[in-house]
Amino acid sequence: MSIAANNPALSSWVEVPENSDFPIQNIPFGIVKAEGHSPRVASRIGDSIIDLKSLFVLGYLENLQFRLEDFDTDSLNAMMRSGKQGTRSLRNRISKLFEAGQEDLQKNEHHVNQVLIPVGQVEMLMPVKVGDYTDFYSSEQHAYNVGCMFRDPNNALLPNWKHIPVGYHGRASSIVISGTPMHRPKGQQKPNDEEPPVFGPCKLLDFELEMGFVTYQGKPLGDSISTEEADDYIFGMCLFNDWSARDIQKWEYVPLGPFLAKNFASHVSPWIVTLDALEPFRVPGPVQDPKVLPYLEYTGDKHIDINLEVAIQPENSEEKVVCHSNYKHMYWNMNQQLAHHSVNGCNINAGDMMASGTISGGEEGMYGSMLEISWKGTKPVPMPDGSERKFILDNDTVIMRGYGEKNGVRVGFGEVSAKVLPAK
Ligand code: MN
Repeated sequence: MSIAANNPALSSWVEVPENSDFPIQNIPFGIVKAEGHSPRVASRIGDSIIDLKSLFVLGYLENLQFRLEDFDTDSLNAMMRSGKQGTRSLRNRISKLFEAGQEDLQKNEHHVNQVLIPVGQVEMLMPVKVGDYTDFYSSEQHAYNVGCMFRDPNNALLPNWKHIPVGYHGRASSIVISGTPMHRPKGQQKPNDEEPPVFGPCKLLDFELEMGFVTYQGKPLGDSISTEEADDYIFGMCLFNDWSARDIQKWEYVPLGPFLAKNFASHVSPWIVTLDALEPFRVPGPVQDPKVLPYLEYTGDKHIDINLEVAIQPENSEEKVVCHSNYKHMYWNMNQQLAHHSVNGCNINAGDMMASGTISGGEEGMYGSMLEISWKGTKPVPMPDGSERKFILDNDTVIMRGYGEKNGVRVGFGEVSAKVLPAK
């Protein structure tokens, strides 16, 4: 597939700093709020926000299938209703307008001043109104590590794991944008087998390094989406910190699985990077053995090479990177996850969020949660300020970053960052 906007040779008349996550080959989508203006749909090149409402009003998005209401709004849900062809044509148009040598917009200084806003002058808002949130558990190393810690290394993976992209339905209301402060959750824990449970602030607060994907409008209830069709139902991706309260989780999860240990907050990065923009970073996935059932078979490269890292920044201290991982380490890819999710006829909607599950690579240093990094608290991590971390402490900020890089083009996500405040 050749997508015009992905051409590595393209450059923009808008300045792009070196190592920016947002060259003209990215063109992500998000929601911005500038002082004195209503929230609106935007894109970004370098450190310049592109106000798509203004671009539309000034006539630069003519002959596409969009209306003013698709951009003059506080979520991407309306524009996502145009489906893959709609958002692809929009991204290609934006790319064309900002390509070096294209002067239609560039030579109209008055228009440029209306359309481009320095990134420091806007607040990023939640990009999507998430209707439903599903969390998978699709990294083999993560599932293996957790199995080793809580069961035994010889039977680390449960019998269903290599047959089913295991997942659960999460909570949409508490998915929040990067930068939203979060209070340490409280809940029931059972630290001692012999004693009754206690109530209080979570003591084992953890992050989960994940990536989320956002869907277009799916099919009617009762229909399924195949692995082949899945690409047409996925709009784009973001970084996703799926916070977990390990002590609450341990006590509550039997028999129905994740509940209050997971639903207090998840943070997302503000820009949705389209699946189109990630196309150049496709790579093959692992050989799946045992063979999967036919509805989970797929063809082509459906995994994506996205470098990921997690840093912890204690208050008034420099950050320490505690994990380098990669989205390509997934066992199950998005196409399989979506096919599995809908194979029973479950319908998906525009703006549904699906997360990968913790993404751990095959070696120490590549693990995507403190549970694994500190191996259940037995291997504390030294911090630059002399303290150490087994789990996340009050006033720590957890930062996740990610980008793909190929042919001299780096397409990234910026970051998702969140500070943990003491329990309320
Ligand atoms: Mn998770």
